[in-house]
Amino acid sequence: MIYDVDLETLPREELEALQLKRLKSVCERVYANVPFYRRSFDELGVSPADIRSLKDVSKLPFTKKQDLRDNYPYGMFAVPAENVVRIHASSGTTGKATVVGYTQRDVDNWATLMARCFMCAGATRKDLVHNAYGYGLFTGGLGAHYGAERLGATTIPVSGGATKRQVQLLRDFGATVICSTPSYFLFLLETAEQEGIDFKSLPLRVGIFGAEPWSDEMRREIEERANIKATNVYGLSEVMGPGVSMECLEAQKGMHIFEDHFLPEIIDPETGETLPPGETGELVLTTLTKEAIPLIRYRTRDITSLDYTPCRCGRTHVRMSRIKGRSDDMLIIRGVNVFPSQIESILLETPGLSPHYQIIVNREGNLDVLEVQVEVQEEMHLDEIKRLQSLERNLQKTIKEFLGVTAKIKLVEHQTIERSQGKAKRVVDLRGK
Ligand code: AMP
Ligand code: ZN
Repeated sequence: MIYDVDLETLPREELEALQLKRLKSVCERVYANVPFYRRSFDELGVSPADIRSLKDVSKLPFTKKQDLRDNYPYGMFAVPAENVVRIHASSGTTGKATVVGYTQRDVDNWATLMARCFMCAGATRKDLVHNAYGYGLFTGGLGAHYGAERLGATTIPVSGGATKRQVQLLRDFGATVICSTPSYFLFLLETAEQEGIDFKSLPLRVGIFGAEPWSDEMRREIEERANIKATNVYGLSEVMGPGVSMECLEAQKGMHIFEDHFLPEIIDPETGETLPPGETGELVLTTLTKEAIPLIRYRTRDITSLDYTPCRCGRTHVRMSRIKGRSDDMLIIRGVNVFPSQIESILLETPGLSPHYQIIVNREGNLDVLEVQVEVQEEMHLDEIKRLQSLERNLQKTIKEFLGVTAKIKLVEHQTIERSQGKAKRVVDLRGK
């Protein structure tokens, strides 16, 4: 099922013609209305008139998160304040928050894109959507909410937290679709088990999970334990919020980027060079339709690759692979690059371990030390010393073999690692503190 068949299955040539028209228009708009862009276009000696083909996008300046911070709060807006109907902000755990705005048309487009996402996951207006993404300045809650309503589904605005109650609501209201971070869904699942509620016996059919990195192994774990389909949705507040790309249920192989609204590129994060299709690198996005805060070549820091081959669902829009990590989340342990998602994959493939873990990086003398804390499954007891020791040894060996680093393994008791209500904090980096 496709929400907007005409646009989502547009032949590539026509799609690219539409993108080019929109790219020219967004360049003109930012050049005329955003001093930051006028300056950065001028510095590179490029003007909107230089955009004659899609390839010319590589002549344009990048936009970084720091640019949004430097122009805090409204300096990047391209429309007068009275045309802005909504503000969101990202949490800003490092430095100032980044503030984004939406015109009425932006909010409408966003709702439509999220409705496309729901349909990608096989949801229709007959579904009941339990929305456990946080409501507020974070884009997840309201983004999914408007999308579910646009689809015509019954929307249940639960937000994050009050986990026991959520589990009861899931049972009593009979939701068929759930939206949350994958880590929060695991917490819901675990709470349900404690409350004697079996997710497998509920009408819940599909989960739309995103907002944080997760692995295919985590997907399998969720699908098996809850007997649902677990789909992947991607987005970021700077570019819009959730709904930039979405996995289709037919293939479950990569997320379709809605290319009539976003122009993707993959670059080498070190050199900034554009990489050929299929290569892995940093995703860069140009917004093609956004009015309040259009962004040119926004460096997402997310590491992925693009697949332009036809998809069996019929959509022609390019697919991006599951996010491998963020270029700024990549841990460099004694010179070796390690992504937390690689560690997650190994943990989840090891019998006896739970999907609850934390990675702690510290420095002893001049050396980096990596510690992986992971909960053992409930039925395992920490007094089975021999079994635990061999589990630790094996895990250490596998990590060394696959990632090339030595990790200290600390098996911890069930329920000791803090559960997330939204985005999970997987890495604690104590170096340089
Ligand atoms: P925020 O702006 O707070 O919504 O955070 C956006 C960031 O969350 C993205 O840049 C990604 O790093 C991460 N993210 C969102 N969706 C996913 C996903 N499906 N898989 C992995 N990371 C994601
Ligand atoms: Zn598809």
